[in-house]
Amino acid sequence: MNYSKKTPRDISLEGKKVLVRCDFNVPMKDGVIQDDRRIVSALPTVRYLLENGAAVTLCSHMGRPKGEVNPKYSLAPVAKRLSELLEQEVILADDVIGESAKAVRAACKPGQAVLIENVRYDAREEKNDPEFAKALAEGADLYVNDAFGAAHRAHASTEGVSKYLPAYCGFLMERELEVLGKALANPARPFTAVLGGAKISDKLALIENLLPKCDNILIVGGMSYTFQKALGGEIGASLCDAEKIDDLRALLAKAEGKIMLPVDDVIADKFDNEANRKTAKAGQTPEGWMGMDIGPETAKLFGDKVLSSGTVVWNGPAGVFEMSNFSTGTRAIAQAMADSKAFTIIGGGDSASAVELMGLADKIDHISTGGGASLEFLEGKNLPGVACLEDK
Ligand code: AMP
Repeated sequence: MNYSKKTPRDISLEGKKVLVRCDFNVPMKDGVIQDDRRIVSALPTVRYLLENGAAVTLCSHMGRPKGEVNPKYSLAPVAKRLSELLEQEVILADDVIGESAKAVRAACKPGQAVLIENVRYDAREEKNDPEFAKALAEGADLYVNDAFGAAHRAHASTEGVSKYLPAYCGFLMERELEVLGKALANPARPFTAVLGGAKISDKLALIENLLPKCDNILIVGGMSYTFQKALGGEIGASLCDAEKIDDLRALLAKAEGKIMLPVDDVIADKFDNEANRKTAKAGQTPEGWMGMDIGPETAKLFGDKVLSSGTVVWNGPAGVFEMSNFSTGTRAIAQAMADSKAFTIIGGGDSASAVELMGLADKIDHISTGGGASLEFLEGKNLPGVACLEDK
């Protein structure tokens, strides 16, 4: 797929009406935004459009209102925060494509931005309904998609509208495509992937796609025990996906030594932060005990690999990092990512939270804004919200 897409820099914007799909799906609690990073990251595109004389309609989803109007998922707090950040009022329409949205969009002047309500208030959004997409496009001259986090979904506002308007790529999306695209096509070597998390089934396609591209794949976290089992190790009560054992054996056979597994684990006698714990050699976990984190030898070994790489992609924690006694391995990986001279990329989700919690986020070269989207990208899948944008 071509990742070089037209952006607002490639067109005259003066007097144009532009529909922009953003990812304003910010964490909310009792109507208060907990973290405004997604709004802040949309600003470069929005500001550029405003400064170049466009009249801007912004849209986004928030949460899962399941096709029904629900004030809990209103974008009102987003409109307020946007107004503060842009230092100009961003009016919020009362609906998505109804009378209010039509009136607010019609009244929007060059240099102004308005927001329509949560696109998922309408069930036709997730169904990628053509009539709904057409109504979203109505009155606009151009569509800009800057919602990388939603680009793996073919919904009306992420893909459908491109059938009715010239579709361009926003700056946040452009950066994601540049960084992730380069990692896959032309990485500084050695290229190392650190893959963790609980579910092996979620990561198999990723491992398969990265195998020919990477020099090292370091497996950590809950999914490493199914690998141990495939090698004939004893894993006690650790997480195990028995159905995947044959697949993993085949994978290891063709991996030519690129896949590295933990050499030791921190094991516990129950799934609890206060459990008894000890270090065990990988594949030697006794009955009744379970792997909860990578051990100190593995943390050192994998940390050194991260430090001596040219490019590192990390996705998924090395242990049950939500429990402080089992967060050491994840912390060690995060620290190595921060200290490494490699170009470091974090694929969103738990690994991103871990570096943020540790205050290391600004030492990482790129933290993807799309967990699911960046995974699918790295799996080699076409993202519908990217494929529909015009090539340069
Ligand atoms: P995933 O959603 O597959 O990326 O997995 C993330 C989750 O994996 C986190 O909530 C971790 O607590 C969990 N996890 C990591 N290592 C282990 C482990 N050894 N045992 C159980 N869960 C784990």
